[in-house]
Amino acid sequence: MNFHVMTLFPDMIKQGCGTSILGRAQENGSIHLEVTNIRDYSDNKHGHVDDYPYGGGAGMVMQAGPVCRAFEAIRGQYEEAPRVIYVTPQGKVFNQAMAEEFASCSNLVFLCGHYEGIDERALEKIVTDYVSIGDYVLTGGELPAMVMIDAISRLVPGVLNNKESAEFESFHDNLLEYPQYTRPEVFEGERVPEVLLSGHHANIEKWRREQSLLRTWERRPDLLEDAVLDKKDRKYLETLKKDLRK
Ligand code: SAM
Repeated sequence: MNFHVMTLFPDMIKQGCGTSILGRAQENGSIHLEVTNIRDYSDNKHGHVDDYPYGGGAGMVMQAGPVCRAFEAIRGQYEEAPRVIYVTPQGKVFNQAMAEEFASCSNLVFLCGHYEGIDERALEKIVTDYVSIGDYVLTGGELPAMVMIDAISRLVPGVLNNKESAEFESFHDNLLEYPQYTRPEVFEGERVPEVLLSGHHANIEKWRREQSLLRTWERRPDLLEDAVLDKKDRKYLETLKKDLRK
């Protein structure tokens, strides 16, 4: 999987993606990260890439020229045009299903804005997807791009090892994950749930599934609407609702 990031702050991306699991994934070749400094495509000797907004108003706007030229340099590497994700608070809010869809691409380009954003004409020319990480405004697109690269990379074969499996996690089947425990068996008087020590796999699976349903019902009931549920799951959820009415 090839990630390209177009940014005015390349070090932020290189450092943020260079450690831990993403750093290792780059070393073992599971993912490849190329960072393009948009400032390198400025057409003036001062390296300016922003200017005042037409119509007035606060802040500066990133100019279309440097962004489009930076993109052309990336585009030239591929026969087929890659998807270009502009990270923006005006986009569709990123979620696990989108991470899964993006993980099926071979090449992805992230465009990070700064200041008041980017001249609309550049966006119209090159962007295929507008994606946000939530309904709040950050100073720049670097953190959102890194959030998305992290979530997508975890789904790329070879990035996680067995210890870090992505198979049964929150949002799998649109449910939150069950609670996790590790040693010691007793911590400050609190015991690990007995069933997890029983070695009885079917009972452990049943307990985990119910915990997962309970947690989703308590914390993110909105997810249950699209969750993949069987008869037993629905029955369990009914008992939770009945208990609440008592
Ligand atoms: N003036 C823009 C607006 O109101 O939509 C916000 C610009 S913001 C200060 C600067 C840049 O940060 C944006 O161009 C975008 O790339 C990034 N950004 C800020 N918040 C974001 C969010 N919630 N999700 C994704 N990107 C975001």
